[in-house]
Amino acid sequence: MARHLITSAIPYINGIKHLGNLVGSQLPADLYARYLRARGHEVLFLCATDEHGTPAELAAAKAGQPVAEYCAEMWQVQADLSDRFGLSFDHFGRSSSPQNQTLTQAFAKVLDEQGLIREVSEKQMYSHADGRFLPDRYIEGTCPNCGFEEARGDQCDNCGKLLDPVDLIDPHSTVSGSKDLEMRETKHLYLRQSTMKDRLEEWIDTRKGWPVLTTSIAKKWLNDGDGLQDRGITRDLDWGIPVQRGDAPWPGMEGKVFYVWFDAPIEYIACAQEWVDAGKGDDWQRWWRTDAGADDVTYTQFMGKDNVPFHTLSFPATILGSGEPWKLVDFIKSFNYLNYDGGQFSTSRGRGVFMDQALDILPADVWRWWLLSHVPETSDAEFTWETFQQDVNKDLSDVLGNFVSRITKFCRSKFGEQVPEAGTFGPDEEALIADLTTKIRAFEGHMDAIEIRKATAELRAIWVAGNEYLQHAAPWSTFKEDPDHAAAQVRLGLNLIRLYAVLSAPFMPTVAGKLFSAMNTLDTSWPDDVAEALTALPAGHEFTVPENLFTKISDEEREAFAERFAGRRD
Ligand SMILES: [Zn+2]
Repeated sequence: MARHLITSAIPYINGIKHLGNLVGSQLPADLYARYLRARGHEVLFLCATDEHGTPAELAAAKAGQPVAEYCAEMWQVQADLSDRFGLSFDHFGRSSSPQNQTLTQAFAKVLDEQGLIREVSEKQMYSHADGRFLPDRYIEGTCPNCGFEEARGDQCDNCGKLLDPVDLIDPHSTVSGSKDLEMRETKHLYLRQSTMKDRLEEWIDTRKGWPVLTTSIAKKWLNDGDGLQDRGITRDLDWGIPVQRGDAPWPGMEGKVFYVWFDAPIEYIACAQEWVDAGKGDDWQRWWRTDAGADDVTYTQFMGKDNVPFHTLSFPATILGSGEPWKLVDFIKSFNYLNYDGGQFSTSRGRGVFMDQALDILPADVWRWWLLSHVPETSDAEFTWETFQQDVNKDLSDVLGNFVSRITKFCRSKFGEQVPEAGTFGPDEEALIADLTTKIRAFEGHMDAIEIRKATAELRAIWVAGNEYLQHAAPWSTFKEDPDHAAAQVRLGLNLIRLYAVLSAPFMPTVAGKLFSAMNTLDTSWPDDVAEALTALPAGHEFTVPENLFTKISDEEREAFAERFAGRRD
């Protein structure tokens, strides 16, 4: 038994996530966590909401709520949706927790002591009406290059020119609309990442078997142009973790908060503390401190490709720079994007299917299966209603559902609702067991390597093998000539249902639960020995025929869904 720490990139607080977000981090992380638990490993699986920064402030203002209240409500919404999607976090924390505040301030102190923080004076746009400094993208005005009237302070969306807010003609605040702006001097703390370039590169070179996507993004940031840049870790905002040196004030930094990119990954550690403080665990240090046992831990992070620089460089810079014995990530699994029906998912335009809407129309496991079998692993992937309908109808109804239904109904009609006793396995059954053994070992290899597309293809092949066996063995025909052999075929088939439930549970936990319940068994043990696993339900063991496991998606439904999710979210 090994110990595995798993984290999913933490979703931002300002709204319900779409399926592209879900499949780019939380869902594959959940698959891996469930698989490792099923194999008997000790797993700590953590996620949280990322709550600080200007977008949270603006979303709260739009909702007419104080930002702390808004975040608390949205955390609950996201936590409920995670539960309903079967995401099996050991704890779903919050980056605004007191634990994260203390830890972030402590990291800033120790980084300062290590000489890795410098103060920088810079000029930033201040809005008198808003009483605050404004990030560049919250300032709009006319583009000096093309005359576009809604150019942002950082870039013109019309001509693409990179801008400074001072370049804009007639700039105004997008928060209040006020034009009463001035450039003011302000001081910020910078993390001296540039001095850590070699250490980071050496560390990345020691990481074995990282996906090309992960390493290539990290190397690009390390070496392209002027190389890794120092990065500001503070902001002139109200909402966030106050800048302090540990529990002491930081002179000159009064009224400032840490920049969200700095405190958000520290929440991975703080979340383990929250897990203990919530009474769910008793020792977080053995997961996170190498001086307290975390050297034995394998730490895997899941994230979309846009988050890779923060996890390969910025967060490791914080950890390595501290000189303290914190656990560093062992494996980073990163993903490309899932697109929606010929375009992109869009939160702002409400394009695509969002987590709450998905559950309104279909069970979570149907989504889990399709998303995991199309996870954007080696390139971007595409959701279309046609492939979705076709794949789930085929894989789930025609293959898995059909197998379960036929074997249980046939048994009930000829032998009653218990595992029949007579007969012995012949060459066909032995061949099936050998084939399944090969396939299950391959499936384990793909799951261990977190090669999710290959794993789903193998699992599908394992289901298909059972269906083909049933088609070929045809116990309904055998029964007429040799009822004892038909009994053996059915006994094998019923045991295959339990085995399918074990293998499929990390993908479809609810469906697996229904199968275990119909097979009337609590035996969820992994098929290390396939022949033995296919005798887990002994002769005479009672079962019930499960209710229809899957309902096919009709053409009418598909068309209605496509139309409903094409445009703006209501
Ligand atoms: Zn322009």
